[in-house]
Amino acid sequence: MSTHAPTLGRMMHRPLLITHLLERAATIHGRATVVSQRPDKTRVRRTYADIGARASRLAHALAALGVTAGTRVATLCWNHEAHLEAYVAVPCMGAVVHTLNLRLHPNDLAYIARHANDEVILVDRSLLPLFAQFAAQVPSLRHVIVVGDSGPVDTSGGHRDYETLLAQAPPVPYPWPDLDENAAAMICYTSGTTGNPKGVVYSHRSTVLHSLVSAMADTLGLKDDDVVLPVVPMFHAAAWGLPYTALLTGASLVFPGPHLDAASVRDLMVKEKVTVAAGVPTIWLGLLALLDEEPGKHDLSRVRTTIIGGSAAPAAMIAGFRERHGIIITHAWGMTELNPLGTVAHLKPHLRAADAAAQLEVLASQGAPVPFVEIRHKGEDDGPPLPWDGATMGELETRGPWVADSYVGDEGEDRWTADGWFKTGDVVTIDREGYVRITDRAKDVVKSGGEWISSVALENALMSHPAVLEAAVFAARDEKWGERPVAAVVFKDGRRASDDELRAHLATRFPKFWLPDRFVAMHQIPRTSTGKFLKSKLREEHGGW
Ligand code: ADP
Repeated sequence: MSTHAPTLGRMMHRPLLITHLLERAATIHGRATVVSQRPDKTRVRRTYADIGARASRLAHALAALGVTAGTRVATLCWNHEAHLEAYVAVPCMGAVVHTLNLRLHPNDLAYIARHANDEVILVDRSLLPLFAQFAAQVPSLRHVIVVGDSGPVDTSGGHRDYETLLAQAPPVPYPWPDLDENAAAMICYTSGTTGNPKGVVYSHRSTVLHSLVSAMADTLGLKDDDVVLPVVPMFHAAAWGLPYTALLTGASLVFPGPHLDAASVRDLMVKEKVTVAAGVPTIWLGLLALLDEEPGKHDLSRVRTTIIGGSAAPAAMIAGFRERHGIIITHAWGMTELNPLGTVAHLKPHLRAADAAAQLEVLASQGAPVPFVEIRHKGEDDGPPLPWDGATMGELETRGPWVADSYVGDEGEDRWTADGWFKTGDVVTIDREGYVRITDRAKDVVKSGGEWISSVALENALMSHPAVLEAAVFAARDEKWGERPVAAVVFKDGRRASDDELRAHLATRFPKFWLPDRFVAMHQIPRTSTGKFLKSKLREEHGGW
């Protein structure tokens, strides 16, 4: 309910537009750099001034192809400067950029591109084989623009070459229109692990506000002297908004292209003097193992922090980076539906004098909500919000200026409560200070004899065992208890541990009925397109479902 307070004076109303981020970066921070790694590992350097000029040219070129307000322009690209140019040029001209997740199955990509009504697509040359597998199933597509990331572009089949289009466009600034700040800027689709993927729209306003809050010192704290490496793909939740936050703050950007393995990421961090890197835990688990093998060999002293989210960052990993390599992890929680930042694990002043164990408790939590993100958790949809006591588990709900209030086409309406809060599907506790701890995704919680067992807590503990690289706990069917926990375990190279050893390692921290019935050794844990454990597959293959 809103009440109407008297208006005593009028403030200037200027809309919050991405255009401002672009123009500010190109002028005030014109010397900041954007480095892009190509598939052959060569690197291309540009400045924000270049990006501004090239975004203008891209907008001219797209306008000449018939792109107007609201036209959907898709991208099928790795992280690089042309993708950044699309991130700004498309929304600033009033059109909508739609990032396609190149890890999805071609049938899903076809569904999503049709659903979004994509008319133009920017495709990396290296991804043309993937594009060829679904292009014919998207009748709305009128123009294909190929980004020559891996060599010259063949235009004989009607494809256009990105660089040629830019070179032929007028070299004058594009007259960026005044837009409604609530206009759609970007569409991202959820990965649809249950049901069809759903489209989430980010507006200019939500993107600008999200960038401002992300830049705050006590959230992600980006600054003009930072060098930011988004390992998280730009096709996933806008690379956590980092490209926009970098433009806003004048921080330089380093894009990894397709090289996302730990050794390549480490080399890029060293060579480009990265200060802030961001990605899902898998990458950093790999990096930590590499650094542990060769302590002191690689100079990562410039790294101020590594932002980790997407799945739970294990406490042992956070401690390992800090104690053995002096790298501070910033653990954050977010969702595609949130543009995506929701909470950040930041030590409040009174905790900075606390002992290492108490600090780790907080640093390994998903953190407290960032400004403007409101949270509560519920046991039942119609029930009252649960107490913030750090113990009571319930489903996390949220609302805020960058929290979606619908999906494209009003699908999945049951994800919102009657009073308009978004139901995250994450089961959490919230403590007195607002620190959230995810105990599970609602669908992954193990329900044994009517009690809930947190798969995330068990995984975290398993990953603190010296022989374990990764662990995923999932529910197996059980006649007596309904479900019982089973752990899939990947051991570090040359290391092993017996089931009894692993069970003993857990027994000191958990009640007996929480301990996994079985351990399944694997070379690799199956993952979703966004790098999360694919527990549905584990359940099917090893859980008797
Ligand atoms: P997708 O479903 O496409 O993988 P999202 O990135 O939107 O997409 O996934 C959001 C979900 O990821 C959250 O609901 C939560 O379950 C999980 N998640 C995100 N960050 C964290 C984190 N720091 N710790 C634990 N889980 C996380």
